[in-house]
Amino acid sequence: MNPLLDRYERDRRRLLMERSVSGRLGTTLQPLDVPEQPLPPSDMLRGDLPMPEVSEGEIVRYFSQLSQFNFSIDHNFYPLGSCTMKYNPKLNDEISSTPGMAQLHPYQPESTVQGALKLMYELQGYLNEITGMSANSLAPMAGADGELAGMLMTRAYHLANGDAQRKYVLIPDSAHGTNPASAAMAGFEVVTLPSDARGDTDLDALRSSVSDELAGLMITLPSTLGLFDGHILEVCRVVSEAGGIVYGDGANLNALLGRVKLGDLGFDVVHSNLHKTFTQPHGGGGPGAGPVIAGPKLEPYLPTPIVTRHVEEDGSERYSLSAPENSIGRMGAFHGNFGALLRAYAYIATLGAPGIAGISEDAVINANYILSRLKDDFDLPYDRVCMHEVVLSARSMKRAHGVNALDVAKRLIDYGIHPPTMYFPLIVEEALMIEPTETESRETLDYFIEVMKTIAQEAADEPDLLHDAPHDTPNTRLDEALAARRPYLRWRPEP
Ligand SMILES: *Cc1c(COP(=O)(O)O)cnc(C)c1O
Repeated sequence: MNPLLDRYERDRRRLLMERSVSGRLGTTLQPLDVPEQPLPPSDMLRGDLPMPEVSEGEIVRYFSQLSQFNFSIDHNFYPLGSCTMKYNPKLNDEISSTPGMAQLHPYQPESTVQGALKLMYELQGYLNEITGMSANSLAPMAGADGELAGMLMTRAYHLANGDAQRKYVLIPDSAHGTNPASAAMAGFEVVTLPSDARGDTDLDALRSSVSDELAGLMITLPSTLGLFDGHILEVCRVVSEAGGIVYGDGANLNALLGRVKLGDLGFDVVHSNLHKTFTQPHGGGGPGAGPVIAGPKLEPYLPTPIVTRHVEEDGSERYSLSAPENSIGRMGAFHGNFGALLRAYAYIATLGAPGIAGISEDAVINANYILSRLKDDFDLPYDRVCMHEVVLSARSMKRAHGVNALDVAKRLIDYGIHPPTMYFPLIVEEALMIEPTETESRETLDYFIEVMKTIAQEAADEPDLLHDAPHDTPNTRLDEALAARRPYLRWRPEP
């Protein structure tokens, strides 16, 4: 290789301490114009604190280069299944950072924030309309927070009916891990429900699992296998007839928007992740919003606050925060993650009803395009039309060439693609869960497909290339267990 190019690559990857030059300064301090203060006693002082000595320009360049080593939806294709890393229009960020919105204070008198309350009220209306439910609270700060709210509402409902014996919740074996966690946090026992050979809920198992101790069922639709459960009407009916609450995990409504309303299918309560289905840059744990949306049975138990609208005698409108009749209380401080709510509002309002239905059309077509072009190169555990995501498997590749889903995912990084979700759902061996989203172009999907086919070929021809991947990143293959247990987060001097 060209030695100058080598040097450029090496320099770009240097840590801050390695860029340090003794005596170089980033700031010019003025002489003191106040009395100098004595240092604390010497036994409280550290001997030597190595600090990087760099100019301001160098430090800016260092952090900017670091940020470019990151994957992000603004840089790369990001088909991380169940996480919906779609492109978020910048307009929504602009609207939520308008000073009149961004600088509101939650303790301001209601009369001074009528515009903000009106937006929340209208967003509540959009969400009821989209899901076919009757009322919601925007307060939960994430999907898991919405789930916990829904489970606490379920508990409050049964207790109010004198049904304290309803103590267990059914959860399919394909469920997102937050579902059993939320049910357990609300004090329920979790009973796992198997899926049948087609990936739908096993109806016989369901029928034999209901009793007068059933509190409810938590189910994701489409399931995390990316499938629309063909038994869903029957599932809702069996649970309702047994007196249970049907909870819908609507974290990803991308496949249903404008086509199917969960309320029409028989769900009693759902949550939706505004940061996945709608818009909000997210990842690394936040930020988000997970409104909990209820039908008539659970509406009185919604968390507080909700926004209500009043029409005064002179015909003018007024909006206020209120608590539902038998509210479970607050899910956090104040009114929810207002910035995320605003982005979702802007997104829905910009698209309008036809645009919203267009999301589900494109999301489902994109996933099925990938399914049909890759089904001969990878295993397809459930060979049927998928919804907004497709779950492939590297099972045969592992048997034939010793290359697993992790190796495939790591190799994708070399081609500039974020790995898909791996090893989830748990019921698919060597799972690769791919969610292209509706915002990707035909060219990007074709590039991804070509890369996946190339990787399948590499697995056969040169498996070690995949075992050692990624090759072109600042850090190559890490020991992931060690990296999680003993993270190496800061520079240490050589011993
Ligand atoms: C992401 C997700 C959740 C949890 O949402 P958070 O906002 O991460 O708490 C729950 N269920 C499903 C199906 C999800 O994809």
